[in-house]
Amino acid sequence: MPRSIQSLQKALLAWYDANARSLPWKENVTPYRVWISEVMLQQTQVGTVLDAYFERFMNRFPDVAALAAAEEQEVLKYWEGLGYYSRARNLHKAAKAIVERFDGAFPRDVKEIESLPGIGRYTAGAIASMAFNDPVPILEANTIRIHARLTDLESPIDEKFAQELLWAEARRWVETSKRGGITPGRVNQALMQFGQQVCKKRPLCENCPLTDACLARKSGRENLIPVAKPKPETIYWRHAAVVVYNRKGEIYLRQRQEKEHWAGLWDFPRVDADESDSPAVLESRIRQTFGLTAKLESEPFMSFRHQVTNHKIELVCYKAQQVKSTQSVDVKFAWAAPAELSEYPLSSPGRRIANKLIS
Ligand code: SF4
Repeated sequence: MPRSIQSLQKALLAWYDANARSLPWKENVTPYRVWISEVMLQQTQVGTVLDAYFERFMNRFPDVAALAAAEEQEVLKYWEGLGYYSRARNLHKAAKAIVERFDGAFPRDVKEIESLPGIGRYTAGAIASMAFNDPVPILEANTIRIHARLTDLESPIDEKFAQELLWAEARRWVETSKRGGITPGRVNQALMQFGQQVCKKRPLCENCPLTDACLARKSGRENLIPVAKPKPETIYWRHAAVVVYNRKGEIYLRQRQEKEHWAGLWDFPRVDADESDSPAVLESRIRQTFGLTAKLESEPFMSFRHQVTNHKIELVCYKAQQVKSTQSVDVKFAWAAPAELSEYPLSSPGRRIANKLIS
């Protein structure tokens, strides 16, 4: 006989009681703390957020008002290294919107929460369920895995039918959850942690309290589900980053623009670079692209690979001396002394280069 949702919830929460991780954002729960932690945790491991970011960010921006009052550059500085910087810019914009539209009080309604910059259906659901205990469903990678496997969902999870089914399942888990003292926030947290630790990519079905309700396990497809769309093809690029010094020994930095990766962060100028391109060819490309006339050293001083979305980039880094003061075409640029590089929020490859320069 199929198990009722209440019996599944009880089994899940019994597992959660025995295994719940103690995390700072689960203590002193406020919508602001849940929001910041959820945004940080998108695309970032829990350990990284715990070790280096959450408490530091909270100490500097303890509430919506403090975040709204800060300069965007400072918010980016506290985000440096976490990647996906539009998250930090949107946090800042949303904090300002809360001050302007809601008098600084976090909105209580899930639709109002979702209307804020950068807050999608998942984050709004996490805030509403965890901070306000509203029966609002959430779907993210961990819960998608669980619902897809419990229902033996064979369609790719991006398809409309699959999305509707997954949201309906997620809703079923939280809508009935107030019975028996089971709260929506705990159910959502338990599902996410269960997906991280048990129903993970290679599921630990032997330790699973939901096994007898799991249709994928019954059909032997637990390792094949969820079915994902094929990943976009990897694109390989080669770039040259150039550290241009002026006569005073200052280094040219440019602020990356709205449509570029790492928008709002600072970086060294970069151009495309084929392996056959000589320093003279790169000098000409830098002059045309940035309006900088500079003489490159004959050999790069470092090179490394990094990845941005589906692009794998080999970055060769040259030092160069400005030979004539020309008009930069960058909207925002700065000449920074090497000791000042630590004060600028830099792209992650830019920070790697800066660390090498001052080591
Ligand atoms: S039986 Fe396995 S696949 Fe099914 S929910 Fe449990 S851990 Fe996930």
